[in-house]
Amino acid sequence: MKEPDLYLPQNTIAVIQKYQFAFQKKFGQNFLIDGHVLQKIIAAANITGDDVVLEIGPGIGTLTQFLAASAGKVVAVEIDRNLLPILEETLCGFSNVTVLHADIMKTDVHDLVNRYCEGRPIKVVANLPYYITTPIIMGLFESHVPLQSMTVMVQKEVAQRMQQAPGSKDYGALSLAVQYYAQPYLAANVPPNCFMPRPKVGSAVVHLNVHRHPPVPVRDEALMFRLIRASFNQRRKTLVNGLLNGAGLSVPRAELMQIIEELTGDPNVRGETLSLQQFAALSDRISERQGHDQGGVRGEQTETDGR
Ligand code: SAM
Repeated sequence: MKEPDLYLPQNTIAVIQKYQFAFQKKFGQNFLIDGHVLQKIIAAANITGDDVVLEIGPGIGTLTQFLAASAGKVVAVEIDRNLLPILEETLCGFSNVTVLHADIMKTDVHDLVNRYCEGRPIKVVANLPYYITTPIIMGLFESHVPLQSMTVMVQKEVAQRMQQAPGSKDYGALSLAVQYYAQPYLAANVPPNCFMPRPKVGSAVVHLNVHRHPPVPVRDEALMFRLIRASFNQRRKTLVNGLLNGAGLSVPRAELMQIIEELTGDPNVRGETLSLQQFAALSDRISERQGHDQGGVRGEQTETDGR
């Protein structure tokens, strides 16, 4: 088996020229051309020969080659039809890779895992398209497929948001969701010159080690995330106003204010000051009060289109 070397800029350029490939900005195409970064991704993901890896957006197969060399099996989902003949060539030396032509946002991940990953727990590894980072991560968490970890390249600011605590200006729905489902760890900062073409923004590799059990128990997870989204959609408003405007609750204002005061000591508190534990407690109180379970809501997209 040939050593992965597509990341060498001259090899990436040669493949692109051979197939007259045109980069599509709308697909967030910035291919990795730095071997050290690729090694760091593989090390952070802690890939072994027993692992089944799901890669989102293989591009020309640069990271895929590294994954295939270390994992038992790799399933790679690529939206751009023009990349398929390239992937056929760059991955032809690896018998453990399956490339699927699909939009990950329209893919039934349960079905994919059952069909191609033998239902085994998966590790997600990806240099993500930045225009859909949050929906991809939230979609995977909320799908509740058996996930061991996600090791993903994201925009630097998104990596920071994932790790924020209450009170900071970057603390938000993404911080709470990531921390509910996983333990985030910053594996590397990656400058624009590690990609072709260079993105306008800085990047970072984040390893999300998925919790076996959530760090806080909550009676109705979907309701808790609805409350979280409603309170951060209107950050400048008090928590009670954010919830009354955006969470679709059937609890009267006075009662909601009383619950909030009991939990936080301040009926006019802002949502951005509440911890995950407090959102879980708030959700449980509202759930008890409403007396029935609420439906789920998908993660909204919050990042800027940096590349
Ligand atoms: N993995 C390659 C690398 O590191 O060089 C390419 C990473 S590039 C940042 C993102 C990749 O995701 C591109 O190949 C792009 O075509 C693909 N992509 C974008 N949107 C997608 C979607 N909705 N579903 C699947 N793949 C997508």
